[in-house]
Amino acid sequence: MQQDSINTLRDQPIRPQKLLINNKSIDAVEQKTFDVISPIDGRVITSIPRGGEMDVNLAVRAARKAFESGVWSNATPSFRKQVLQRWADLIEAHALEIAVLGVRDNGTEIGMAYKAEPLSAVGTFRYFAEAIDKIYGEIAPTLNTTLGLIHREPVGVVGAIVPWNFPLMIGAWKLAPALAAGNSVVLKPSEDASLGLLKIAELAVQAGMPAGVLNIVTGLGIEAGASLALHNDVDVLVFTGSGNVGRQLLEYSAQSNLKRVYLELGGKSPNIVFADAPNLDIAAKTSTLGIFRNAGQVCVAGSRLLIEEPIYDEFLDKVCNHGASLRIGDPLNLETDVGAINSGRQLERCQGFIQRALDEGAHCLIGGQALHQESGGFYMQPTIFDRVTQNMELAREEVFGPVLAVSKFTDADEALSIANDSVYGLASAVWTSNLSLAHRMVRGIRSGLVHVNCYGGADITVPLGGVGQSGNGHDKSMHAFDKYSDLKTAWIQLS
Ligand code: NAD
Repeated sequence: MQQDSINTLRDQPIRPQKLLINNKSIDAVEQKTFDVISPIDGRVITSIPRGGEMDVNLAVRAARKAFESGVWSNATPSFRKQVLQRWADLIEAHALEIAVLGVRDNGTEIGMAYKAEPLSAVGTFRYFAEAIDKIYGEIAPTLNTTLGLIHREPVGVVGAIVPWNFPLMIGAWKLAPALAAGNSVVLKPSEDASLGLLKIAELAVQAGMPAGVLNIVTGLGIEAGASLALHNDVDVLVFTGSGNVGRQLLEYSAQSNLKRVYLELGGKSPNIVFADAPNLDIAAKTSTLGIFRNAGQVCVAGSRLLIEEPIYDEFLDKVCNHGASLRIGDPLNLETDVGAINSGRQLERCQGFIQRALDEGAHCLIGGQALHQESGGFYMQPTIFDRVTQNMELAREEVFGPVLAVSKFTDADEALSIANDSVYGLASAVWTSNLSLAHRMVRGIRSGLVHVNCYGGADITVPLGGVGQSGNGHDKSMHAFDKYSDLKTAWIQLS
């Protein structure tokens, strides 16, 4: 990746966007649009349709029609596989262009965005494309006089609602297994990061995706999102986002057709460092990036750092030094370590958390301020608080920004008790050279993902999902198919 190529792409005009319904790029029925504001400099870079109920109705109708026609749901596995592979190839061929477009929309530093967005989506589409002709049904262990066959069938129309952090990575985690399993999909991107998903949807059409199988309706959560979640002809709703919206979606399901709802929600992930961690420098650097990359706007961010007493001061110093040395700024500059906060609203939200932490008596070691306000964009210093006690908001609530809460523990029991004192259970980490202790912690921590001597990087082969108020269901790995397929039993009497 060269800075020159990024610079060429960064100022290219972006035409006003359209919805994708039935393989056609169209305006919203009511012709409404809204501006896309870049977090890099606060400028308007284009507009997207403000879709509503009528647009969602059109998209769901197209999806249902495609599903019933069998053009995808009943197509040969090899056809579906070819289309998804061609789609992955096209995304890969346009990866830098897509990455820069996405960064202009959501502010993630380009070094990370390039890998975590288009390239991660390419890997996900290839993984699930490859799986299509390798999934078998089952034969039940019945008596010889009967035959019990268990088929896997697509569920029908899948509604997907995704957030603004890593829209392509998370979008692909939903789209790839849903489409691979033979479903039709209507996806609503976040109003704060729609451009990349619209771009890859265009490439899906070029790859030969039949009309109606993939539809994208942009718009506000409360309008397009709510209409999709309330729709009576959506069979399954998959969601990644905040707990409050997740709650709302369960209500929408109850108010409509009892569609299944799978939620991937937030976290307050504990990162536990024992004094015998294999390499304190690596642990400190990785822990720093584990909270501050993408300005902390990462669902699995290690936002609670728990340090064992004997190394508390030494380790905290290392983390503060790394945090303070990070270069915050223009996310399209390859020298930048940490990019922008997604929106002015999100920046204000982070500042609110910082003020309340100070009011509650937490001690701010580094950061706490907004940065580069002259640019018109939204930036914030990496911020570290210690003396954070369990009753404080900062220990309990997800900030979803570059703010780290640090506390001390004296033994494994206390570490587990602090780690598990949370309504969330998405991710966690343990740093130790003691294999038995590592296993004990893996078993004891209440979270869907436990890193050992690392933070982040879990690939597509393993599931990601939370427990407690971090949600249900899993993205990634072959387990993702469970959400997008129904089991059907054939019970056959043999003569
Ligand atoms: P959000 O919940 O505000 O929005 C997510 C999506 O829901 C957006 O597309 C939005 O338009 C839509 N929405 C909002 N209100 C709606 C409504 N009433 N009905 C239907 N749809 C509605 O979340 P966000 O701010 O975009 O993303 C940040 C959150 O996502 C954080 O809590 C983060 O932890 C979580 N997240 C979780 C994971 C995971 O894998 N568990 C991954 C990334 C982000």
